[in-house]
Amino acid sequence: MIQLEGITKSFGSLQVLKGIDLTIDKGEVVSIVGPSGAGKTTLLQIMGTLDKPDAGRIILNNVEVNRLKDKEQAAFRNKEIGFVFQFHQLLPEFTALENVMIPSLINGISGKNARKEAEAMLDFLGLSERASHKPAELSGGEKQRVAVARALINHPSVVLADEPSGSLDTQNKEELHRLFFELRDKLGQTFVIVTHDESLAAQTDRTIHLIDGRIS
Ligand code: ADP
Repeated sequence: MIQLEGITKSFGSLQVLKGIDLTIDKGEVVSIVGPSGAGKTTLLQIMGTLDKPDAGRIILNNVEVNRLKDKEQAAFRNKEIGFVFQFHQLLPEFTALENVMIPSLINGISGKNARKEAEAMLDFLGLSERASHKPAELSGGEKQRVAVARALINHPSVVLADEPSGSLDTQNKEELHRLFFELRDKLGQTFVIVTHDESLAAQTDRTIHLIDGRIS
């Protein structure tokens, strides 16, 4: 599903990733842990084509994504990769339903079908009653679940999550973590999760330790 080969990345004179080789299978839930500044977010951003490596290959679902032109890469990203961030990054002026519809609309799906699919996804995640609420009217846990719905709406090959439960209290944290595993079990969804949360990392299929730009 995901293959990284020889990924390096520097910012100025600071080499942040020093040669990353990594293979992740479909349906795996993988955590990436390591000290602050180790390069975890940079690695996730490169995996998600939000940033470019200096060298190395990224193969997602049999496509060598770093060889795509920028426009093709953006379309590929929208279709094949779902993102969940620490802070939900929902658009405040839109309802939960509209936020979840956005990736489908970008993907060229009609408004009517995008609405139907977003309603079904919110229902699947137990959020039907929140569909018409704007982000400011949702709890922290609900906002993150809406963000997960948005990440899943195009049935991506992989969901990349950067400290997804970092802003939640213990109960909401545990609920969100349960949701990831439920989605893996029900949909075969692949997840790569950057986290400081040891209990989440311990539950994942595999934990990658990134230390000083290398997998240890
Ligand atoms: P982590 O997620 O493990 O905390 P990051 O990948 O965020 O680490 O950052 C790794 C290092 O790269 C840090 O020293 C950070 O300051 C630096 N860095 C990250 N992004 C940039 C950038 N866009 N420009 C310059 N330095 C950056």
